[in-house]
Amino acid sequence: MKIVCDGDPVLRKKARDVSKVTKETTKLLDQMLETMRVAQGVGLAAPQVGIDRRIIIVDIGEGVFEFINPHILASGGSLVDVEGCLSVPGINGEVERKAWVELEALNRFSQKISLKADGLFARVIQHEIDHLEGILFIDRARNIEYND
Ligand code: ZN
Repeated sequence: MKIVCDGDPVLRKKARDVSKVTKETTKLLDQMLETMRVAQGVGLAAPQVGIDRRIIIVDIGEGVFEFINPHILASGGSLVDVEGCLSVPGINGEVERKAWVELEALNRFSQKISLKADGLFARVIQHEIDHLEGILFIDRARNIEYND
């Protein structure tokens, strides 16, 4: 799939809930994973491939996590670190995020899952959920650097 870049209106829309997990949903998850791998990203949200749905995937090197309709139930602490985004190429910036999050979502089998994440995993989850709200990391970033 093609990754859409900043300027495309789909990145600024609030994405819609997945009402039912279907074969199309799992096909989309597979395609998103392949797209993320090719782009060498650690996370991808459906709006980044032009799909207005609340689906994110994360792989920080500890296996693939797929979250459908993710909700943050609790969070705490705060940490600043450098982020980038496949939809905002050539730019990095420091973003303050919660240090840990507790998340609830559906998996591809439509089962409710919950987990607690911290470190990079928590950061990527928050970055990807922002995409579902139409928020890009550059909206939150300071000390922005242009790499190209
Ligand atoms: Zn992003």
